[in-house]
Amino acid sequence: MAVAIGVVMTEHIVAGRLEEHKPVGKPLRFPSDHDEVDALSALPSGELVEILASQVASLAANGNKVDAIGVAVPGVVRHNIVEDSPNLSQIKGMHLGEELARALEEKGISAPVHIANDADAIAAGVAATRGHLNRLTRVWTIGNGIGYGRWPYFEGVWEGGHITVSLDPKERFCGCGGVGHLEGIMGYRAMRMRFLDKEPEEVFAAARQGDTKCREFVDLWHRALAAATASFIHLAGPGKFYFTGHNVGFLDVPVLRAHLETMVKMSPLQSYSLEVLEPDDETALIGAGVSAVRALTW
Ligand SMILES: [Zn+2]
Repeated sequence: MAVAIGVVMTEHIVAGRLEEHKPVGKPLRFPSDHDEVDALSALPSGELVEILASQVASLAANGNKVDAIGVAVPGVVRHNIVEDSPNLSQIKGMHLGEELARALEEKGISAPVHIANDADAIAAGVAATRGHLNRLTRVWTIGNGIGYGRWPYFEGVWEGGHITVSLDPKERFCGCGGVGHLEGIMGYRAMRMRFLDKEPEEVFAAARQGDTKCREFVDLWHRALAAATASFIHLAGPGKFYFTGHNVGFLDVPVLRAHLETMVKMSPLQSYSLEVLEPDDETALIGAGVSAVRALTW
């Protein structure tokens, strides 16, 4: 039986024990106070590693064997190195896999550590919980930024949030500075820059009340996501797309589907499905563990 420990580090850290891809026992959370937001952004990277190591150690206690440890973090992750992480800037460039393995060794734990992108971990978690680990699963995370995750893992950068969806040179609100990017239209920060007098929630509410400018924008928002999704369908084929993240409430699936239908016309590509997932930490936690167990055999 494969035993893994899955960890998710976003605005907080959640860690849990998995047996055969299923959570066992109660997950640990840091900070334990749910009202404390943004607790991680001020912590130096060394302290973050210590917190991760002590959570893993308490889940691995009692001499229970652990086969693999998986950690999901936001950002560009390749070969256990966090190449970039805009929302947890202190871990940028960190050899997180190596550093956590070293901290764990000091606590007598020698299982291999695998670092995954958080959106990829959600895709892995969805595939595992729905029993289709052998199928292509893609996830869009709609938050401050726009994340794209896929399972099974495939070498690459996969910065789907920065795919170009507009040729309009005025579309320059993406946090990365690139023109015409998906995140520059859909990202929370980008929406605040576009509507200096309204919060994104107010823009979507005004659109429902019939405000022309806001309605046009909400339509653009859905068309941008449809365009990016259509591009991935044209590259990797149809299949399942899931939508989650703390701003997934802005998404109107029928509107998205209507735009997608205008963009994907080749009949073998039309068998895609679209589904909203309520955001939760457990899916990414399971996915982090599942990815770590799978990585043992690569
Ligand atoms: Zn960008």
